[in-house]
Amino acid sequence: MKKVILVIICLSFMVFSNVYGVKQELKGVKIVLDAGHGGFDNGTMDYGYKEDDINLEIILKLKEVLKKEGAKVYLTRDGDYDMTKRNHHYSKQDDMYLRVKKIDRFKADYLISIHQNASGNKSAWGSQVFYYYRSTKGNELAKDINQSLKEVTHSSKPVSGCGFRVLRATKTLGVLIECGFMSNWNECGQLRNKAYQEKLCIKIKEGLVRYHQKVLRSKKKEVKKVLE
Ligand SMILES: [Zn+2]
Repeated sequence: MKKVILVIICLSFMVFSNVYGVKQELKGVKIVLDAGHGGFDNGTMDYGYKEDDINLEIILKLKEVLKKEGAKVYLTRDGDYDMTKRNHHYSKQDDMYLRVKKIDRFKADYLISIHQNASGNKSAWGSQVFYYYRSTKGNELAKDINQSLKEVTHSSKPVSGCGFRVLRATKTLGVLIECGFMSNWNECGQLRNKAYQEKLCIKIKEGLVRYHQKVLRSKKKEVKKVLE
């Protein structure tokens, strides 16, 4: 009888935790978040707004969203500075060198770098997810994140293989997300909107969870094979 009661308690806890979101999908997963640019390097600047500021706003929201899922979150920057912190002697080379080193030092499971796009063509718009072109896992992760992200951005841009240094030179599995075009007046407005930023973060999290669950499932299968 005691056993039956125990089973009932366990089952009801499982149902309760799923229904009320107590279950943390990224429990113990280490994630590095990289807000692109910073300090002397503003990134793109459109309509008086700076990319590095928007990148940081989104990263800080994403941090909270991922922490709620139980992830351990690390940031390359949490304020308006570049990695050299030298200000008057800013060098993009040095910033990237230090950024890459910092990212790998956390020995995290995933890296997400956030940027905003710009184009001379003011009507260009839409999010795009990039991965290092030689990484199969990166490609999978990018596709999972893109699948969720486009539910909010409605972008039809496919994921894209690239050689961006932040992905190429790091050992951490990661993606770089261009959330949208700041050069597009309408999209720039959305990207600055707090509620829209929150929606982006939830979708990025959902995509990451989808990928991570696949990893966990394949690990379970491997263990089963070994035990058989
Ligand atoms: Zn950028």
